[in-house]
Amino acid sequence: MANSIHLLPDHIANQIAAGEVIQRPASAVKELLENAVDAGANEIKLIINDAGKALIQVIDNGKGMNPIDAQNAFARHATSKISSIEDLFQIRTMGFRGEALASVAAVAQVSLKTRQAQDELGTSVEIENSQVSETSPVACPVGTNISMKNLFFNVPARRNFLKSNSAELKHIIEEFTRVALAFPEIYFSLTNNGQDVFHWESGSFKQRAIHVLGNSYQTKLVAVGEKTDYLTISGFVGKPETAKKTRSDQYFFVNRRFIKSAYLHHAIANAFDGLIPKESFPSYILYIDVDPSQVDINVHPTKQEIKFEDDKIIYAFVQAAVKHALAQFSIAPSLDFSLDANIQQLDAIQKPVSDEQRNSTASSSLYAGFTQKNQAHFIPRVSEAEKKEWKSFFSDIPTTSDQNQLENANETYIVKSSSMGLYKESEGVIVNEDATLLQVNNTYIIAPAQSGFIMVHQQLAHERVLYEKYQKATVQPHATQKSLFPVVLELSVADAILLEEIIEDLAIIGYEIEPFGQNSFIIQGIPADVISGNEKNAIELLLEQFKHFSGDIKFSKREKLIRCMARQSAIKAGQSLSQKEMHGLIESLLNCETPNVTATGAPTYIDFKEAYLDGLFTK
Ligand code: ADP
Ligand code: MG
Repeated sequence: MANSIHLLPDHIANQIAAGEVIQRPASAVKELLENAVDAGANEIKLIINDAGKALIQVIDNGKGMNPIDAQNAFARHATSKISSIEDLFQIRTMGFRGEALASVAAVAQVSLKTRQAQDELGTSVEIENSQVSETSPVACPVGTNISMKNLFFNVPARRNFLKSNSAELKHIIEEFTRVALAFPEIYFSLTNNGQDVFHWESGSFKQRAIHVLGNSYQTKLVAVGEKTDYLTISGFVGKPETAKKTRSDQYFFVNRRFIKSAYLHHAIANAFDGLIPKESFPSYILYIDVDPSQVDINVHPTKQEIKFEDDKIIYAFVQAAVKHALAQFSIAPSLDFSLDANIQQLDAIQKPVSDEQRNSTASSSLYAGFTQKNQAHFIPRVSEAEKKEWKSFFSDIPTTSDQNQLENANETYIVKSSSMGLYKESEGVIVNEDATLLQVNNTYIIAPAQSGFIMVHQQLAHERVLYEKYQKATVQPHATQKSLFPVVLELSVADAILLEEIIEDLAIIGYEIEPFGQNSFIIQGIPADVISGNEKNAIELLLEQFKHFSGDIKFSKREKLIRCMARQSAIKAGQSLSQKEMHGLIESLLNCETPNVTATGAPTYIDFKEAYLDGLFTK
């Protein structure tokens, strides 16, 4: 019988090993960027084509490699970063396993140009299927320029697994952003298909945070900073108003390495307790620095978990630091934490407050909060009224309902056209045009109908009306009103990508939005029935709702968008309406295809029939 065990040829073994490190273009991006950081560069340029599927190129001005290292770098376990097991416990570099370049070389066509400052000429190396095919001296700038083409060209199964360009680009931007946030002292740029996506000048941590989150965060970040012998925490949390429905804009770094930690996230969420609604997430960019011997980073390079020697201490520390920062913010909301050093020296800031100042502050509610127990760590609770506002802002969008089923079940409600004097009829419901309508609690409209009365929920009814209107708009575009003063929207990277994705659908329902430079958009026009002046808020809210929705694969993108729009633009409960407005609403409602429920299945009105009413009063 033939033996069945054999040794895998090198190139197959390499491809398998590579799969652990390089799963998608974004993983290669991460490795190459980290190598550039480790090489001490202060300028790193990332160039990609087709979301990294065709090309990933990283150009750095770091220390470069000599001709021998340039070839050896691609061997498995080739690293300059550790030479003994002890080194592992003091590691400060991003990489140390010597696997990245070997993996890249196994699954892409790689070329490298690199030069060290002391050498006149650099080295050029070409590699395919893990084999160096060519090396030659070359004139090039100091630093390293590495490009990998046609990722997974030799592993078609993997190539087929790659997602759409927009999905892969999103992953790349995520990795790029993480590295850039960790190293604000380095200039970073990203070019995709020849287009400048980002170029972030080197600067402070705050400047980089604003590059990433968008200019609107200029006044919305609270600085966190605490130091002990054991560890340091620094960075920013977003003010409560920046809390989101989704877990975007949450970054945690340990020794400048991006990590995911549900445990530490919990500590931060805890610090925000009572300040933001339960189902929302604070934004934060926090950096912990700790003696490397206190953490175990000897996990797989692509994993982002980390083990602390004593994670309970870290938890308490993170929570206290964030609470402290928030408390300071709530007692001194107008003082920007990044005041420049000259301003910090001013008397007004240095000198103790005068009696007069003290009296005036003592009468403010902020002061009252501050003087309660626990002082600095006391965070005033939000009032019930405020909470209610938050709640309605973040109110859940019901996501489950089977539209078809509802529609079929309610076939009997299909509208027939009106006949003189009566406007609309929806099986059994006829409302007279001249009827006097009654608004109760600014929410419900009582309308006499031919056989009793109906009670309409104004918000839900309007939601149905708008839903059908927007649905029809997908056949015939909705009217747009041009903005007299176009509004500029500045978004976070993630939101900008999302908006790009839905921009065409928004156009159909009447939003005319155009890209306006980096992460910015200009709103040129809004649906004819949206009140202008509020378009910025409307779009931001729409994006939030849309994100919340987007996990729901049952619905098409457009369907989700229409639902969000209808929900958002509907008149709200609590708004007082005139007879004319109420009649207008009921007329449009009864004219709907499916007047009796919202798209998500909530009833829009209840029909009280005489027979039923009589029954209620029978002894
Ligand atoms: P690791 O980063 O874990 O050491 P890599 O496979 O990523 O392993 O890189 C192998 C080696 O190649 C590094 O240790 C480093 O010496 C060298 N190297 C890689 N990229 C660069 C670069 N951009 N500049 C200078 N040297 C580099
Ligand atoms: Mg590396």
